[in-house]
Amino acid sequence: MRRKIIAGNWKLNNIVRDSVILAQGLKPEVASVTDVEIVVCPVYTALESVGKAIESSNIKLGAQDMYWEDQGAFTGEVSGMLLKDVGCRYCIIGHSERRQYFGETNESVNKKVKAALKWGLRPIMCVGETLQEREAGTTFDVVRDHVEGGIAGLSEKEILDVVIAYEPVWAIGTGKNATPQQAQEVHAFIRGLLKKQYAAAAEEIIIQYGGSVKPDNAAELLSQEDIDGALVGGASLKVDSFTKIVKAASAKV
Ligand code: PEP
Repeated sequence: MRRKIIAGNWKLNNIVRDSVILAQGLKPEVASVTDVEIVVCPVYTALESVGKAIESSNIKLGAQDMYWEDQGAFTGEVSGMLLKDVGCRYCIIGHSERRQYFGETNESVNKKVKAALKWGLRPIMCVGETLQEREAGTTFDVVRDHVEGGIAGLSEKEILDVVIAYEPVWAIGTGKNATPQQAQEVHAFIRGLLKKQYAAAAEEIIIQYGGSVKPDNAAELLSQEDIDGALVGGASLKVDSFTKIVKAASAKV
């Protein structure tokens, strides 16, 4: 039985004070949810304060990106070592916005995934096709490339700590989610790929869906056999909508 993970990607939003207010607002609302892993990923500058705000709660801290080197002459970068130091447990890696605007490649994603694991951070590794790629019928090729490139060289033990987020780029921030059937089809494909390499672990690996997840579509998406959670952008910025999505993932609420 896979434990669902609902992660909020706050992207480039909220000054420290507003990030803390959001975290504090969320805390009591989701306190009763014990069967879902809940993660929030604020901007770097708010990590430490949000970490303190959610201390001894059931909400975990995540970052939105990291560099693969630990320290040194890499101006502007933040490493897994530094994220660990401020209490992070997760780190989003290879988000499509990073692939699109910041030159992220499968190779850089792979290095970051390995560095995250080295520091005991669970990478949330994002994969997914653009609209053009879907329309050209290359969705499965693109997803295979992202998955295999991102996890290259990982052991069976390491892969269990990796969370894969299938995020069709055309569904991110557009209000246009993949249908539960479209998402399930790709999730099953990803699990099939994992089975070829990691026969024993594949059934346990968490595969999240991301792309315009909202309170009104969350339950149906999350009820699909191979959808083990959600990576949520816009709807994670409001206590009410994120709480509803977390509760949609819970079997007990
Ligand atoms: C995301 O940023 O990963 C995301 C899925 O955004 P949204 O939920 O706003 O589509």
